[in-house]
Amino acid sequence: MVNGTCFFSMTCKLLMEKAGISPGKGNYMDKALMLLNNLYSQNSLSKQETVYLLENMTGNVEEKLFEYSDITRKKYFGNRIFMRGLVEFSNICRQDCLYCGIRCSNKNADRYRLSLDEIIECCKTGYQLGYRTFVLQSGEDSWYTLEKLSCLLKSIKHKFPDAAVTLSIGEKTKDEYRTLFYSGADRYLLRHETASKKLYSKLHPSMDYNNRIKCLYNLKEIGYQVGAGFMVGLPGQTGSELAEDLLFLKKLNPHMIGIGPFFPHSRTPLKNESGGSLEDTLKMIALTRLFIPDSLLPATTAIGTLHPKGRELALKAGANVVMPNISPVDTRVKYELYENKICTADRASHCRKCIENRINHAGFEIDMGRGDSPRKEKRAAAPF
Ligand code: SF4
Repeated sequence: MVNGTCFFSMTCKLLMEKAGISPGKGNYMDKALMLLNNLYSQNSLSKQETVYLLENMTGNVEEKLFEYSDITRKKYFGNRIFMRGLVEFSNICRQDCLYCGIRCSNKNADRYRLSLDEIIECCKTGYQLGYRTFVLQSGEDSWYTLEKLSCLLKSIKHKFPDAAVTLSIGEKTKDEYRTLFYSGADRYLLRHETASKKLYSKLHPSMDYNNRIKCLYNLKEIGYQVGAGFMVGLPGQTGSELAEDLLFLKKLNPHMIGIGPFFPHSRTPLKNESGGSLEDTLKMIALTRLFIPDSLLPATTAIGTLHPKGRELALKAGANVVMPNISPVDTRVKYELYENKICTADRASHCRKCIENRINHAGFEIDMGRGDSPRKEKRAAAPF
């Protein structure tokens, strides 16, 4: 249920069936099915059509959506699921996003920061476990100056030349992004969170929507493989706003897209709100697969937190990436964007095996390669 509307009220029958979880029966929706067929064949719909489809997503339409998203993922990526090693290296953040457990106003957060050597040590562990992409993620922590980050990137690239590095460290100037790119960063994740300017402003009192969007276009222009993405079930979020998310992604055409449910963290101003649902999140993943068919779409830890089989369900809905944690075990619970996060007590080697078993069991195979976007362009030499 999103903001009292009922367009996501059905359970995800087809996925549930495949995962051995209680199926149900749905209704036939003529026009919605026709729009879905158009989306499947053309990877595009108008705003009005997208809203209609969202509002009439029941029964056969829902089944067809998951069937189409599964076929589409297979068409572009086969049965492969790409693995990324995630390093959460600092939970210190200057921003104050209303939904986030590590926002600067949360004085109860147990803060930590890894040294550059500790980050490299995590990559070494990851490399030995077979990972060929490291995702380096943190709050917006100014202790990591441009110089330190450049040094870190060069060192990682020197030690592990066949691995890709993804940064997820927030908003920076175009020049800073460019320096990081030419120091070795290959990809950059910066979720837009919501394409509704109004909702974005409410949730991010210290941030500017236009700058966020500008950052994404700057990253693309520089040559990064870029990741955007949004949250599902945000307080006050409407079907029309979710349609805007899909259409914004269509326009930006990012290489990677992260979609996760909203969780009401008890130490934030949104603690009394309802969270996003599994059903809604899975449907948005499936629709995203149809709008941007060649995207790299993670089955997030957040969706795994929502349901024990959440990540498997997300893969069946069209996702094709998983990001097991390779951070030190004692820091994982502190990187608390939301509460009750899974896999906080498991060693990196355990996570690696556990997720591989889950992926295989769900009928997929893991791919431990770099897993670049099919749209990746050859890197240009540094202009300086
Ligand atoms: S969502 Fe990101 S930018 Fe916002 S407070 Fe949390 S860590 Fe900082």
